[in-house]
Amino acid sequence: MWTGDWRENVWQEVERPYDIVIVGGGITGAGILREAVRLGLRALLVEQKDFAWGTSSRSSKLVHGGLRYLKEGKIGLTRASVLEREHLLEEGPGLIDPLGFLLATYKSDKTGRLVFRAGLTVYDLLALQWSHKYYSPRDFQMLAPHLTTEGLKGGFRYGDAQTDDARLVLRVIAEAVAEGGVAINYVAAESVLREENGRVTGLLVRDQLTNQTARVTARVVVSATGAWADELRGQVGGEAKIRPLRGSHLVFRSWRLPVAQAISFLHPIDQRPVMIFPWEGVTLVGTTDVDHHKALDKEPCISPEETAYLLAAVDSQFPSLGITLSDVVAAFAGVRPVIGSGKEDPSEESRDHVVWVEDGLLTVTGGKLTTFRLIALDALKEVRHLLPDLPELDENLPVLNPVDVALSSESLPDEVRRRLLGRYGTLAPALTAAARSGELEVIPGTQTIWAELRWAARAEAVVHLDDLLLRRVRLGILLPEGGAALLPRVQAICQEELGWDDGRWQSEQAAYLALVRGCYSVPDAALIPDWRAMLAEAAQNEWAKAAEGADGKWQRPLQFAFALLLGLVFVWWMRGRYSPAREITMR
Ligand SMILES: Cc1cc2nc3c(=O)[nH]c(=O)nc-3n(C[C@H](O)[C@H](O)[C@H](O)COP(=O)(O)OP(=O)(O)OC[C@H]3O[C@@H](n4cnc5c(N)ncnc54)[C@H](O)[C@@H]3O)c2cc1C
Repeated sequence: MWTGDWRENVWQEVERPYDIVIVGGGITGAGILREAVRLGLRALLVEQKDFAWGTSSRSSKLVHGGLRYLKEGKIGLTRASVLEREHLLEEGPGLIDPLGFLLATYKSDKTGRLVFRAGLTVYDLLALQWSHKYYSPRDFQMLAPHLTTEGLKGGFRYGDAQTDDARLVLRVIAEAVAEGGVAINYVAAESVLREENGRVTGLLVRDQLTNQTARVTARVVVSATGAWADELRGQVGGEAKIRPLRGSHLVFRSWRLPVAQAISFLHPIDQRPVMIFPWEGVTLVGTTDVDHHKALDKEPCISPEETAYLLAAVDSQFPSLGITLSDVVAAFAGVRPVIGSGKEDPSEESRDHVVWVEDGLLTVTGGKLTTFRLIALDALKEVRHLLPDLPELDENLPVLNPVDVALSSESLPDEVRRRLLGRYGTLAPALTAAARSGELEVIPGTQTIWAELRWAARAEAVVHLDDLLLRRVRLGILLPEGGAALLPRVQAICQEELGWDDGRWQSEQAAYLALVRGCYSVPDAALIPDWRAMLAEAAQNEWAKAAEGADGKWQRPLQFAFALLLGLVFVWWMRGRYSPAREITMR
């Protein structure tokens, strides 16, 4: 698919007229390309850096309804999300897999068990299932052995799901390209082309590798540029609306922070929900939610303050493990495309997606990875206003194509076969066929096999070393120093598959290691605030509040509100209507 001279071939054709051109190769752009191709449109997607380079490789990787959305009363969004989760679990095993969540209840909790139970009941009912269960303190400790037991009253377990976000983007784009769509990375949309009456008719694009430009014309231009959305909108007079919010994660060796399922809890410092969860053989902790004031075209990086905040979160739940900075393997940060409404607390800003149509430029931003298909369908419904001859949308098609190929079980353990079929779909047999001797083995400390690197280098549009190690496979965030110890073997694969000479390899390696040091590692220890002192201060504040008798004040009203919510959900659910959150601005 992306082999040989594919880039040159795509570039040669880039000026032919398209029905739709999509800017942005994250999950939103990928979903729109996928659905546009299904409608028979001639569709092109351009991504300024690498596919999934933006937020879509830096998320918490959950495919979930989001209990927090339920708490905020966003029942439509929660229901849509849990239903999408169910579709994805069914259609993409090995790429989207179940993940259990644990929610401990403590004597000091301001929210009572009844509230959690009501919330989880609604959550399950929205997905037409019953996954949650309450455990006694003793049983709960068996589920989370090292969790703090001070004041533990017991806890709930419920079901959600997780994925590899960058691979999800790749699979969706690959399916679209296999059916006639065109997608090219390292091509930026520099400016919109407009008719005399001001209507947008195309884009001036620049190949970031050759510096060549081209004029792309299309009947519809869609900007799926996430946190960058205001940049193209600004060219058609759109007022800036995005409030970029950074969310960061720390990655731990799983033997130092062992969790078999996700632990969800409120951070003791600010009562925000935080999670500690297993992923790809490591343990992730996240996330933060802070205003991001840095330039968007630079890699976002975790700050010293966010690092301390996440270490404090771990220490509060697992004090007996004595976690230190040296237990952190890696860090990563992403920027949420949130529509700003001026709220003081970033976490109170809505996460809904929006659709704006301005002078024919259709912008889709915000939302979640989980609901990418719904967001894509929503965007295409607006395309209908611009392309009246658009065929009817079929909202019942599977999100992912069925994978009707098999992998030999003789050479591969079941979990590896499942993983390859999920991530690479019908291309999985080609991947294993391309493997050299020893390349079907798992790379220690990860679940990745060597053959994935060879395949990605050969057929997955890899341009730079970080495309390969941070997004096609995730060794850059799974292993210390970005997997530096493996680079000699990676070099042999890259030189053979990508034709890099020694000079090119040296410059790719140097750039990659600098990137890992700068943005995928923890900041200098000397800059990181004392997180244990932060926790002690938070505890002191809590005691002071408790002494004033403020505790429990909200419990009854909250319980009442949840019970009421439960009733409302039922009424709404029985009516069987779903309307995704969106906002349309027509000009
Ligand atoms: C910390 C964090 C955790 C999250 N966790 C979850 C989660 O667990 N589950 C979930 O469902 N959602 C989660 N989300 C939300 C989810 O990750 C985002 O909603 C989603 O990834 C946004 O995808 P996107 O395609 O709209 O944006 P992006 O992935 O950012 O893609 C936009 C792309 O557009 C490109 N681009 C911009 N300008 C141009 C241009 N001029 N020319 C060409 N290309 C351009 C960018 O390079 C970028 O790659 C999380 C978000 C964050 C920040």
